[in-house]
Amino acid sequence: MALIVQKYGGTSVGDLDRISGVAQRVQRYRSEGHDVVVVVSAMSGETNRLVGMGQEIAGGTPDPREMDVLTSSGEQVTIALLSIALQRLRVAARSLLGDQVAIRTDSAFGRARIQNIDTERLRGILSQGVVPVVAGFQGVDEGGNVTTLGRGGSDTSAVALAAALSADECEICTDVDGVYTTDPRLVEAARRLDYITFEEMLELASLGSKVLHPRSVEFAGRYRVPLRVMSTFEDGPGTLITIESENMEQPLVSGIAHARDEAKITVAGVPDIPGIASKILGPVGNANIEVDMIVQNTGADGLTDFTFTVKRQDYEQALELLEPVVQEIGAREINGDNEIAKVSIVGVGMRSHAGVATRTFDCLASENINIQMISTSEIKISVVVAEKYMELAVRALHAEFDLQDA
Ligand code: ASP
Ligand code: MG
Repeated sequence: MALIVQKYGGTSVGDLDRISGVAQRVQRYRSEGHDVVVVVSAMSGETNRLVGMGQEIAGGTPDPREMDVLTSSGEQVTIALLSIALQRLRVAARSLLGDQVAIRTDSAFGRARIQNIDTERLRGILSQGVVPVVAGFQGVDEGGNVTTLGRGGSDTSAVALAAALSADECEICTDVDGVYTTDPRLVEAARRLDYITFEEMLELASLGSKVLHPRSVEFAGRYRVPLRVMSTFEDGPGTLITIESENMEQPLVSGIAHARDEAKITVAGVPDIPGIASKILGPVGNANIEVDMIVQNTGADGLTDFTFTVKRQDYEQALELLEPVVQEIGAREINGDNEIAKVSIVGVGMRSHAGVATRTFDCLASENINIQMISTSEIKISVVVAEKYMELAVRALHAEFDLQDA
């Protein structure tokens, strides 16, 4: 008998049949004797629909407080429907909104952070043998205002609840049956991983693997909540995300992530003097544009080139912002490319093995793929390549590191 927090995503509660299916799944856990806390997302597409309506009626940027009242309503619908479906199966259940739990957050509407969860009420409900069905994605601030945690935030709600309740496991129940060595839509030979470390999962999630919200992984790692990604629709063990342990054999590379929607900008012929990076990246950062990889050449003749990547959607704006800066710092020119992609290999095994970088570069060279930028960390190597070579790069690296074989 265990205490399990289960989170069901938008597709898992996408229509009434599926909600009934989720109710049956929860019933099964209850009949096995487990205590279950359920967290749900809104029905798939619903949050987008709500955001769209808010934007349309505002005719500009809507008030963030009202947007949170609006967008959080999707989860209010699914908690009630799932509770009713459970009751129909004679499973005692009670829906709870974020402020009823209460899940306290700061007041940053649209991207609030959880500060504290009051578990007393939940424990009371559990002790009566009732399944709490909690709205994901939402919380309440000090002033009693509804807040939301940012898109995809119900993963974080679930992990935070699991941490606060010291649950035995947090299950993220979704439409895939686990975390794969790479995107199975790209590489047929991709394989489900039985386990992966928090560190690796955090890299993969941040690098473009969409299975889990990066913040939820960070949270789970910090509070050591065992996290399992598994299918709502099929039986199977899924993938356990856990701490690194001595007796696990660590593969060199655990997974390969890719991000297609990238762009790079080069400011060329920049005077090689203090303060240049800050002058170039300052305006970009102030516009809330996220900069990812940054490369600066060693200077020659007192000049250097400065290259960085941004999300493709921010490319035009970043170029515009930099026009005046190029003048101001006396750089030669600015140019860019918005048809690039980032491919990253991730593995804690890299820490103790040299040669992974060389193998990566050799592999790409033998496919005639030009590497435009490189960045590394202890457990990751990322390269930027032309977008048209992205799939080939992922496939070649997947084979090179034998990821298809268990
Ligand atoms: N419903 C919210 C969204 O679509 C939260 C979530 O699904 O995790 O972003
Ligand atoms: Mg969602």
